[in-house]
Amino acid sequence: MVDKQPSCADAAEPELLPVHEARLRMLAGLTVLKAAEKIALGDAVGRVLSQAVVSPINVPAENNSAMDGYAITSASIPISDEPESGESTPGESTPGESTPGESTLKVLGTSWAGRPYENSVRTGEAVRIFTGAVMPAGADTVVIQEHVQADEDSVRIDSAVVAGRNVRAAGEDVQQGQLVLDVGRRLVAADIGVIASLGIDSVRVTRRLKVACFSTGDELCALAQYANTRLPAGMLFDSNSWTLRALLESSGVELIDLGIVRDTAEDTRAALTRAADEADVIVTSGGVSAGEADFVTEVFHEMGEVSFWKIAMRPGRPLAFGRVGKAAFFGLPGNPVAVMVTFLQFVQPALRHMAGMHDIAPLELPAKCLNRLRKSTGRMEYQRGLLRLSDGELVVESTGKQGAGRLSSMSAANCLIVVAAEVASVSPGDRVMVQPFYGLLPG
Ligand code: AMP
Ligand code: MG
Repeated sequence: MVDKQPSCADAAEPELLPVHEARLRMLAGLTVLKAAEKIALGDAVGRVLSQAVVSPINVPAENNSAMDGYAITSASIPISDEPESGESTPGESTPGESTPGESTLKVLGTSWAGRPYENSVRTGEAVRIFTGAVMPAGADTVVIQEHVQADEDSVRIDSAVVAGRNVRAAGEDVQQGQLVLDVGRRLVAADIGVIASLGIDSVRVTRRLKVACFSTGDELCALAQYANTRLPAGMLFDSNSWTLRALLESSGVELIDLGIVRDTAEDTRAALTRAADEADVIVTSGGVSAGEADFVTEVFHEMGEVSFWKIAMRPGRPLAFGRVGKAAFFGLPGNPVAVMVTFLQFVQPALRHMAGMHDIAPLELPAKCLNRLRKSTGRMEYQRGLLRLSDGELVVESTGKQGAGRLSSMSAANCLIVVAAEVASVSPGDRVMVQPFYGLLPG
């Protein structure tokens, strides 16, 4: 009988590390960047705050009008003369005259946006006002222009006017002294606008992480040399460098791309030495599976502290994690789909953690799965899916064959379907969790 070793073909291997456990161990082994810098607001999108943003002012600075209309004091609003019940006959009204339940107010002037009315408003008076214009002293209510009868220098209002309406209060958006954005916040477009609205033109952020990456493998050909040519037999284009480069660039780090490294102890040692010297984080692909030459483990043990994990996940079972010199090290599998999946599950949360962010886990949403999904128990599975809205509900469909070498299945997908280790199969209509790739909802 052939004495078989445990492998990823087994239904379940007892020594496999659960994904959440691997993530916890990884986080415990990482240090958060302390170095910070002050940068211009215009360069701050995607950066992580190392100092909270506290508002020096009220926004808006003064009470202002939310509508075009007339600013009045609520003391001018007439009391309703409507009978409690029964019919009321609408009275004839002459312009300029008030009937019971109405008031005629003298229009004193205009408050424009950016050009306030200088004097105050008293009972029986009104000021023409436009959206965003400062409320004159004494005014607490704006009657929209559609609800008045305007004459040359007066307006008539009725008892339907509601006191306090259509006014934006000073500090209603942000109050002076308020904590607006806390340490650890990765700045998005709306944050940049909010900071500008406070009159702040620079922020303190953590230094950009430096990440070195390289692909390992004797079978790899660099695009720089082989693009648009026929590859030698048995060789393939190095796509992982490009995937990693794009993933890292959108993570907002400073990239040190070391290209392809051959499967020799010497080349691996040289690349790791340079990477550890220059970077905070090293990300490699390939060379960590059981079939790799012994020198890989040897070089890592010699140069740092690296553990080779077998994680209860598919794809992405082998993963090396640890330190080389001062740099955190991630040895991702060579398989192109596994590279993306392990990057999103481990490297991206790690980069966020190291940059000082608190919210680091991939976003997961519940969706109704439209297909039958087969899998084995004991491993978390990340299948490629297409997420969309159908009748107001998020639904997801598998992109089809899930071979870990099919990188095109990753680009055909807009999410990962995450199926928990203990689940044996998913039936159409079952609820699954999905991790969208691009933003909150599929674009
Ligand atoms: P490895 O983990 O090195 O055994 O690689 C696993 C599989 O991924 C093999 O089929 C490799 O040819 C493939 N592979 C490894 N590195 C790359 C790369 N940089 N680009 C594309 N495919 C790769
Ligand atoms: Mg290899």
